[in-house]
Amino acid sequence: MAFAARDERTTTMTDTATINDRPGQQHAIVTPQLSCDGCGVCCLHMAVPPFDTSEIDMLPAEILEDFEAVSETRRLQYAAHGTDYTPCGWLNMVTRQCRHYEHRPEVCRDFEVGSTPCVGMRTDAGFAV
Ligand code: SF4
Ligand code: SF4
Repeated sequence: MAFAARDERTTTMTDTATINDRPGQQHAIVTPQLSCDGCGVCCLHMAVPPFDTSEIDMLPAEILEDFEAVSETRRLQYAAHGTDYTPCGWLNMVTRQCRHYEHRPEVCRDFEVGSTPCVGMRTDAGFAV
């Protein structure tokens, strides 16, 4: 899941298809040439940054404030529409980059670009693989 930093990374990003299987799950890298630049597909249905509770406690105050604002927005959306199946509130939909890449959750860091779920999600979204 961004890219001042994102296209420099060789691993990371979240994955809605396997989010419940992680952290710790490893996937084979099947398409090593992929770049996250301009993608962000794996962040599109996260609603909120998928932090573990212990990670939230470590966030700097201004980042925590943004996380809480995003969470409240999504909570209201869920109350109004019955779904929070929306892009992560930290995803910049113009740049397709994480707005707080350096503070992204561990599960986002663990998601591997070029892995099977990455390729699957890009394929479903019509991105080149
Ligand atoms: S926190 Fe950042 S990297 Fe993680 S899902 Fe949200 S936008 Fe993507
Ligand atoms: S779907 Fe793959 S290429 Fe796209 S942002 Fe996520 S990890 Fe990067």
